[in-house]
Amino acid sequence: TQVERLFVHESVESVVPKRAFRDAFDDLDVPCELVGDGRTYEAGDAVATYVPRPEFLDAGWIHCTRAGYDEFDADAYEAAGVPLTNSTGIHGATVGELAMGYMLSFARLLHVYRDHQNERDWHRPEYERPFTVEDERLCVVGLGTLGRGIAERGDAMGMDVVGVRRSGDPVPGVGTVYTPDRLHEAIADARFVALAVPHTPATEALVSDEEFGTMRGDAYVINVGRGPVLDQEALVRALESGEVAGAALDVFETEPLPEDSPLWDHEEVIVSPHKGSATNRYHLDLAEVVKENVRRIGSGEELRNRVA
Ligand code: NDP
Repeated sequence: TQVERLFVHESVESVVPKRAFRDAFDDLDVPCELVGDGRTYEAGDAVATYVPRPEFLDAGWIHCTRAGYDEFDADAYEAAGVPLTNSTGIHGATVGELAMGYMLSFARLLHVYRDHQNERDWHRPEYERPFTVEDERLCVVGLGTLGRGIAERGDAMGMDVVGVRRSGDPVPGVGTVYTPDRLHEAIADARFVALAVPHTPATEALVSDEEFGTMRGDAYVINVGRGPVLDQEALVRALESGEVAGAALDVFETEPLPEDSPLWDHEEVIVSPHKGSATNRYHLDLAEVVKENVRRIGSGEELRNRVA
């Protein structure tokens, strides 16, 4: 079947301006309309959406405008025979640069200087504190689009990059690729541990007390995957006891991060508001993924990024 009507669910506003995103489909032959909740769909309808809705199971194809589709019940789509696609493949540069920025900040103390700048304070840090990321070991957990984006940039900065992925297959720029059963070995010697895995039963609390105990005392942990991959209470304990040096987090167990979280106050914690993928042209990048699949459906090819 062809796509006869394309709908943009207004929930996309969470990540892109919804009208600009809708307008990005003006060059398609298919009509595109912004919709809210409670509409009925038919087999010729496709919906691009940030959130799942029960009525989507009547449509012909649903596109999730996120790489992490953990909020969608993939089994229900499978059972209904409605293909579900996600938006993986476009966040290598955005999240890669964010992770590189975190690491450079920890090494070159940008976050510390900015804190002091707020007080007009010409701060001189302890001699031991600054370092270079060059020659430091980076362990990237999850070597898909995000993980590779981080690993490539780390490699370009002269870091010693290792990583973890399910298959254990080699990845360019990554010296050693471990399988998940060797996670402890992979993180033990790393100065930076970057988490770039999806949230699944296998990755929930992947990094908790035991893993913080395994890490170097001067290690920094970065989470750009999903909040529940990192046990946040264990992180707070590890920071307080000095088991790890710091953390940079773009994703949290509860978002927005509650005001009373101790993570806000820690000098060596960088909090970013789940904006790792944000750019001023994100609506165009997301629309390209959708348009590619409209074309593919038209020519009877398999869908890109099909997850159910
Ligand atoms: P990909 O599917 O391209 O990559 C996922 C990677 O995780 C793969 O390398 C996979 O291994 C690995 N993996 C899966 N399960 C495990 C496990 N149990 N142990 C170790 N490795 C595992 O996804 P993306 O890189 O596009 O996105 C990853 C996640 O990042 C998303 O699911 C989403 O939650 C999050 N995300 C966050 C963003 C942000 O704004 N902060 C933006 C975009 C995504 P293998 O290669 O062997 O299959």
